[in-house]
Amino acid sequence: MNTRLLRPARQGLQSLPPLSLYVHLPWCMRKCPYCDFNSHELRSGMLDVDTERHYLEALRADLEAALPLVWGRSVQTVFIGGGTPSLFSPDGIDALLSMLRTLLRQAPQAEVTMEANPGTFEAARFKAYAQAGVTRLSVGVQSFDDAMLTAIGRVHDSAQARAALQVAATSFETFNIDLMYALPGQSLAMLESDLRAALEFAPPHLSVYHLTLEPNTLFAKYPPQVPDDDSAAAMQERIEELTALAGFEHYEVSAYARAGHRARHNLNYWEFGDYLGIGAGSHSKLSFHDRILRQARYRHPQRYIERALGAGAVEDERQLHAADLPFEFMLNALRLIDGVPTGLYAERTGDSLMSISRRLADAASRGLLDPDPLRIRPSALGLRFLNDLQTIFLEETP
Ligand code: SF4
Repeated sequence: MNTRLLRPARQGLQSLPPLSLYVHLPWCMRKCPYCDFNSHELRSGMLDVDTERHYLEALRADLEAALPLVWGRSVQTVFIGGGTPSLFSPDGIDALLSMLRTLLRQAPQAEVTMEANPGTFEAARFKAYAQAGVTRLSVGVQSFDDAMLTAIGRVHDSAQARAALQVAATSFETFNIDLMYALPGQSLAMLESDLRAALEFAPPHLSVYHLTLEPNTLFAKYPPQVPDDDSAAAMQERIEELTALAGFEHYEVSAYARAGHRARHNLNYWEFGDYLGIGAGSHSKLSFHDRILRQARYRHPQRYIERALGAGAVEDERQLHAADLPFEFMLNALRLIDGVPTGLYAERTGDSLMSISRRLADAASRGLLDPDPLRIRPSALGLRFLNDLQTIFLEETP
């Protein structure tokens, strides 16, 4: 028998964290060779009306079954991610958001983000998404260089990206541009040109991700020639310089925002808040006064639809054990450039800060954490070697 399962989860939470809702829409026109998300290529390239309708029915059943877990709580942010959510029709997104408003209590001024690809539809759709209640559009541009877009297998080109951003900038309360760097054959000058092109649209938020070759992707099987570590580090430095000059705060490893435009949904993840995930392959983390629960839903869209409309969409459910809490918390919180207030650890985990004091001291003595008694904050070195820093909290207390 596993004795870890017999130990109490933790001391208990005094109050529950903010709650977010994640909705996964799992289809894409084409699978990108670097993508390890739960995304499924549409053979026809388009989402047919019946599939869209069945999936929306499944989401409703999934949410109805999950409601007792979040009873009485308000949702602070909604994130519709994928896959490519913009493959769903404006009527479909309107029906989805109406269903969420009917079944869940949403906080006034709730942030409602939707991911969109610039290659999948015309500008008219953006406006309709905004009218349906999307407040924040996150546009997956990745690069403004057509050769780079081809190299990473994207279906859109830079002209489509520019046209899409012009509409995004005028249709939503706020918007984000996703870029990637360290792309196959990319030089520092090319990265700089991409960044300058993005900044011309005055985005309130920028996410700039390092291309990584994830297992189980086409790029892992047939690795392209990508910039070496030193070149990638120089690119990261340039991104930080140019975004700072343009008035952005670098607040998370890959995220840059103008004042008042930090991504509230993602911040809730990084601050170890709660989220209910509905849709194929989505994950939930839900707190109760005596435990924290993690759930995962069936990944394949068809299987998910059948299960959500039948015996239930949850494939895996487990309670977080006290021994898991330090790593789970730090995996998120240490991504934040300013870290988190020290008290947040106990507030969100129900565990005492004393229980990790030796590991905090160890990280500080190695120069990976700033020695600030009021915050748990990675140092510049800690951000550079984030995996090493996070791993300190993976170790079992002797
Ligand atoms: S569009 Fe996004 S989710 Fe879809 S395959 Fe490409 S990277 Fe993955």
